[in-house]
Amino acid sequence: MNEAPEPKAVDAQAIERETMEFDVVIVGAGPAGLAAAIRLKQLAAEKGNELSVVVLEKGSEVGAHILSGAVIDPVGLDALIPDWRDKGSPLTTEVSEDKFYYLWKTGGIRVPNLFMPPLMSNHGCYAGSLGALTCWLAEQAEALGAEIYPGFSVVDVIFAKSGETEGVITGDMGVARDGSHKDNYTPGIAILGKYTLFAEGARGSLSKMLIRKLGLDAESGPQKFGIGLKELWEVPAEKHKPGLVQHTMGWPLDDKTGGGSFLYHFGERLVSVGFVVHLDYSNPYLNPFKEFQRAKTHPLIAEHFTGGKRIAYGARALTEGGYQAIPQLAFPGGALIGCAAGFMNVPRIKGSHNAMLSGMMAAEAAFAAIEQGRSRDVLEDYPQSVRASAMAKELKKVRNVKPLWSRLGTRLGVMLGGIDMWLNTIFPFLSHTLKHRKPDYATLAKAAQSTPIDYPKPDGKLSFDILSSVFLSGTNHEENEPVHLLLADPSIPIEQNLPEYAEPAQRYCPAQVYEVVTEGDRQRFQINAQNCVHCKTCDVKDPAQNITWVPPEGGEGPNYANM
Ligand SMILES: Cc1cc2nc3c(=O)[nH]c(=O)nc-3n(C[C@H](O)[C@H](O)[C@H](O)COP(=O)(O)OP(=O)(O)OC[C@H]3O[C@@H](n4cnc5c(N)ncnc54)[C@H](O)[C@@H]3O)c2cc1C
Ligand code: SF4
Repeated sequence: MNEAPEPKAVDAQAIERETMEFDVVIVGAGPAGLAAAIRLKQLAAEKGNELSVVVLEKGSEVGAHILSGAVIDPVGLDALIPDWRDKGSPLTTEVSEDKFYYLWKTGGIRVPNLFMPPLMSNHGCYAGSLGALTCWLAEQAEALGAEIYPGFSVVDVIFAKSGETEGVITGDMGVARDGSHKDNYTPGIAILGKYTLFAEGARGSLSKMLIRKLGLDAESGPQKFGIGLKELWEVPAEKHKPGLVQHTMGWPLDDKTGGGSFLYHFGERLVSVGFVVHLDYSNPYLNPFKEFQRAKTHPLIAEHFTGGKRIAYGARALTEGGYQAIPQLAFPGGALIGCAAGFMNVPRIKGSHNAMLSGMMAAEAAFAAIEQGRSRDVLEDYPQSVRASAMAKELKKVRNVKPLWSRLGTRLGVMLGGIDMWLNTIFPFLSHTLKHRKPDYATLAKAAQSTPIDYPKPDGKLSFDILSSVFLSGTNHEENEPVHLLLADPSIPIEQNLPEYAEPAQRYCPAQVYEVVTEGDRQRFQINAQNCVHCKTCDVKDPAQNITWVPPEGGEGPNYANM
């Protein structure tokens, strides 16, 4: 535990480093990065070309930092590995029943499937673990010859003097909290590529830097985010209904706070239960973790796992800006793919299929460019393919749902959003696009104008406290290392955020990383960085935009299994 640190500018490029060169460098072994690696190696094998591809992943192993629902639309897998069903993929539970409820405290009403626009149907999708799927994708990529290195955080981008991206730098290992080098100090490696694909997922730290530095969002609206919290339960056999998918909206959130629960039965007696809160919520007293715990006590949710055992917990931000928030995708030497670019379909809560499809499109553009002898220029074919793709059409159909939800609240906004989706399905040429208004950090009301929320105590059976939950995420960070949550101005939490917003970091962080500690007549802001589950919510929601999440040493953070 420590006092708020002084952020230090680390000049990662000034140190003498080992250098490695590849044709394509991919940052992040999620569905986007792995699909790109597989597609590149497939194309090379088809053409009989040599092509070196490396994937760098900050988790201790592939999948360790992956947290998703997940109900997966197989359209991405079908395009990437058409015979994936015969190759031992972990996606074996096809959706068998699809329920959608609007909840109030003691009951709820089921929305008939007939009213749901066709693209909201989960028919033909698979319930499972995205983490397990990425492990399997990594095996497929390695079998094709891609090199995958988990345990390597990528901390910086190498730019040529003329401005193009040349590659990336992995983090130094063995640096003490005071900046001195420990016995095991090893400087990070410079990894150079003809093209670098950034597949860091929602609010990637390098992707955020690139979007700002290169002005990639000049033409798009602000990106919007949600925080998704999830538990994995093992339930008694008689409660398990493989393939049952349930989503809810309404209670425990008030009408002006967007979000809802998901519940998926899959595999061997496994149930994923989770809760999403849109990060444009306004009440600074809202606590997403406690909303999730409260939601699980609703009879229509609790009945699914009463008598079961909770085996995992975690949280992760997701992108919600959709079509109108997609930034410029390609820039000299690099491209954003997957949720680093924000291809998530919010009403469907699905992004993994688009992550894979976008990875494939970027891979095809990079392969064609390298074949033509090009390097480090703009992969113009990639955004063109995206614009012409079924993926863009899908995102376009739902583009007004999130702005309507944010403006009009859950009941009216979602109803009008549903009508808008129907209209866009029947008349795809409709062109009205509602813009997102404020970025999520700017939506909090002042504490003085907000009502504190009285959350029930956890019962230890269905609802739990935060620290026993974080324990189940397997999170681990070295105590003696630089804090990876940087404060631009260490005085802001206590002097500004506390009086104005009752310092909301104490509540929005799903791992109790941030605490306001009172010592005598003094209050100080404490950062328990070792608890961080890498969800990136603080980087999004801090009202002063004072917190920057940077990757800690490779291999640290959560150790999710089957999430
Ligand atoms: C709670 C929740 C529920 C969801 N439910 C569904 C669902 O049911 N169906 C669905 O299709 N989608 C769902 N999604 C969305 C889906 O998970 C994402 O769309 C998908 O994971 C995006 O894939 P990606 O490869 O772009 O990024 P990610 O899956 O986030 O993967 C990024 C990878 O990059 C690594 N990485 C990041 N930065 C660095 C760095 N600097 N250095 C090295 N490695 C790095 C990360 O550790 C991670 O392994 C859900 C998301 C959440 C949070
Ligand atoms: S410190 Fe930030 S990134 Fe880490 S768990 Fe808390 S909110 Fe998420």
